[in-house]
Amino acid sequence: MQRLQGIAVSPGVAIGEAVIFGNEGFRIARRFLPREAVNAELRRLDEAIAAAAKEIDLNRQRVAEQLGDDYAAIFSAHLQMLTDRKLREELEQMIRDRHYSPEYSVSRALRRYAKVFLSLQGDTMAERANDIFDIEKRLLRHLLGQRREGLGELSSEVLILAHNLTPSETANLNPKFVKGFVTETGGPGSHTAIVAEALDIPAVVGTGPFLTEVSGGETVIIDGDNGLVILQPDEETLARYRHEVDEHRQLAAKLETLRDLPPVTLDGQHITLLGNIEFPAEVEQCLARGAEGVGLYRTEFLYLMRDIQPSEDDHHAAYREVIEALGGLPVIMRTLDLGADKIPNFPMPDDERNPFLGLRSIRLALKHVEMFRTQLRAMLRASTAGPLKIMFPLISNVLELRRAKMVLSDAMEDLEEEGIPFSRDIEVGMMVEVPSAVVMMDHFVEEADFFSIGTNDLIQYTLAVDRSNKDVASLYTGSDPAVLRLIKMAIDSAGQHGRPISMCGQMCGNPMYTMVLLGLGLRTLSIVPAAIPEIKRVCRSVTIPQCEEVAARVLSLESARDVRTVLREELLKILPDQPV
Ligand code: PEP
Ligand code: MG
Repeated sequence: MQRLQGIAVSPGVAIGEAVIFGNEGFRIARRFLPREAVNAELRRLDEAIAAAAKEIDLNRQRVAEQLGDDYAAIFSAHLQMLTDRKLREELEQMIRDRHYSPEYSVSRALRRYAKVFLSLQGDTMAERANDIFDIEKRLLRHLLGQRREGLGELSSEVLILAHNLTPSETANLNPKFVKGFVTETGGPGSHTAIVAEALDIPAVVGTGPFLTEVSGGETVIIDGDNGLVILQPDEETLARYRHEVDEHRQLAAKLETLRDLPPVTLDGQHITLLGNIEFPAEVEQCLARGAEGVGLYRTEFLYLMRDIQPSEDDHHAAYREVIEALGGLPVIMRTLDLGADKIPNFPMPDDERNPFLGLRSIRLALKHVEMFRTQLRAMLRASTAGPLKIMFPLISNVLELRRAKMVLSDAMEDLEEEGIPFSRDIEVGMMVEVPSAVVMMDHFVEEADFFSIGTNDLIQYTLAVDRSNKDVASLYTGSDPAVLRLIKMAIDSAGQHGRPISMCGQMCGNPMYTMVLLGLGLRTLSIVPAAIPEIKRVCRSVTIPQCEEVAARVLSLESARDVRTVLREELLKILPDQPV
């Protein structure tokens, strides 16, 4: 049994069989062969070994010519390992006697060899382990060939272990089969983490290296509440976690009963709870959890899921689907927020040293006006189907907002000329997710119809902490009084000018923050659908004066740790059984 501590990004507990998702994008599952296939599979193994050996020999010759025999010796060593009789015998035994597939046998055997080297001290030993991983990759590439299995082709329930998953890879996971995932890298605010919550599967990121320790097929527990991963658990641990899975189920069933109850505080204040979505299909979950609409539709996922840019009609079809599924409830569509960790499949700057400070989001949209206009035209066209508002992301100065609005006006004029109908009085708002936007709110209120606070970015830009970096994850927190003070400034400023303001960052889906956010004056929260019942439960258990008192207290504290202590205590006072 081995325990790994990572960062908890999506709650719940998952127990199941591990599948490794390699850097090269294929998975090596434990698969068994039918008895009659053994000989053919052994032939396939020999062909793969021969092809890999030929490749290594070619490399050896090339390097010998260009750099000399000393460098070529590395490849001679690889060749020796690959064609080692003992390895071949071991693989044959796994295939013949245990009926493992050649892919799984290769991965398992070579990873075991690598582990032996890694357990010995010294750089040379680590290099040998790397040589073995290299051979593994090469052999797998030949074995899998055209039959590479992507995550899309899973057919049984598994837990994914990966070095990293991009937001689009994560969005492609099928929650019917993928019951949880762990990544070695990644931070608490990354979009990979956000998508995991949207998929409602337990996830832990930022564990640091461990993939060399596993070969796939072993039992794993993912504890998404505490950021723990347990490899090959003993019986006692398994039993304890199975019990937790049951408890989660019971809590979910209890929360289910809240669905049709109104989100009203004990003193009668209605709190509007909206859902955050990335795909049209998620509207269903919003409705199932009792959302009163969609407060953030991250439309950029439309770009992330395809090889070419979506056409105006592709956009339009998706937007209409969302509006129709909502059946009259409102939706706030955010224009494309690409860049940083959301990289589409078309050329983007590849030399950015600080992508989160670079050509991201609205900046990218304003640089590629045609692309931006295409999206805006589609949103406008969809606006005849139901209540839709448009929101611009990452606005950091007033001119930027004006330019974005100008592109929108141009798109309106074009539609007008073409005789295409759209709603003329569409509301246009902006995200408040950069400190400069908070500071300049008194000017923004003149330009924007509404505001939505994006704490995922506001935290990183206020505290100078990369939201997707595991090494600074402990600094990335909405509990920091600096973040809370900025949130208060934004709410007060909007309020003074009579502009609606809500929040759509992950922070408002965490029950620990509900009291302080209501106390600061928020009355609309847009959250991951799975968290709606929990947040509703907190809303229904508090009064506004009680929340105001909590907000006033934490605003004067000096550290995130002190704030967290108070918020946890207060939550436990009103809901003693609430996990925090
Ligand atoms: C945010 O920054 O809080 C937000 C909602 O936007 P995203 O997470 O997509 O950057
Ligand atoms: Mg953001």
